[in-house]
Amino acid sequence: MDYKSRRDKKFKTLKGRNLSANSNDDVEVVQKKVKPSKWDDGKVPILEESIERMKSVIKSLKLPDFEPFLNDQGRHECPVCNRNRKFYCHDCLVATSLAEQTPKVDLPISLSIIHHESEKRAKSSALPLKVLSPEQIEVIDSAKIQGDDFDPETTLILFPNDKSIEVKDLSEDVLRTTKRVVAVDCTWFQTAGILNRLKQKEYKYVKIADYDTTFWRHQSQSSKHLATCEAIYYFYKEYKETFEKVVNKNENYSYGGEYDGLLFYYIIQYLQIQRGYLKAQTKGKNQQEDKEEERDDN
Ligand SMILES: [Zn+2]
Repeated sequence: MDYKSRRDKKFKTLKGRNLSANSNDDVEVVQKKVKPSKWDDGKVPILEESIERMKSVIKSLKLPDFEPFLNDQGRHECPVCNRNRKFYCHDCLVATSLAEQTPKVDLPISLSIIHHESEKRAKSSALPLKVLSPEQIEVIDSAKIQGDDFDPETTLILFPNDKSIEVKDLSEDVLRTTKRVVAVDCTWFQTAGILNRLKQKEYKYVKIADYDTTFWRHQSQSSKHLATCEAIYYFYKEYKETFEKVVNKNENYSYGGEYDGLLFYYIIQYLQIQRGYLKAQTKGKNQQEDKEEERDDN
């Protein structure tokens, strides 16, 4: 299965419908304008325009400077398994490069990520979250899920179904007792199997509001598909907002970027893809010019 259909299938369950706020409108416009088939004729000025827009989206997040990461082209030995990896080891889930500059995220409740063994670890947007919050995040192999793995009293399962409550509608009682959220990081089909096993207990299911994906990916998917890490990010953002309002009675609270770090590796991946794309574009343009020069010479 190619990357696109893999991802489409994977995020089928996490679709959003509405454009939420500000910059997402730009992302939508970009998607409509870009014509990837024109890559090799050098006529893609809109891409550069879209990059400027994406830069402003990224700027709105509280994140460290990406440049040292983007300039770091090498691979580095994992301190645990000794294999050479890019920024983090997807097996051991530890940073292998620029660890000091990698953000640390302090979460209000723990996160359990259920990962299906057949899904490539290196491709997962959710697994690297553990690097960012090692104490509060656990990754569980889906094969080990028995069904009674979590305490239903203190656990929320992040999944949209007919029983799901929107995060913003969680009661004070639930907010006060919740200690953990569970996210499933696998295809729709695999998720159905895992959720079936979890039916043994009366878990509380939650869903986030509808969002368009924040980070437009060239050609790979529509803006309606959220990556698992995006869904997790929005969950924590909404959870914090709801908690402040409902439990702390803090009506004036506004989100201050506390969990933006959860998007760190995801954005790096986006920027890397984008740079590769630009390179290909420049190369295409140069080749076209070379051809034209050749024609002129003849
Ligand atoms: Zn390792």
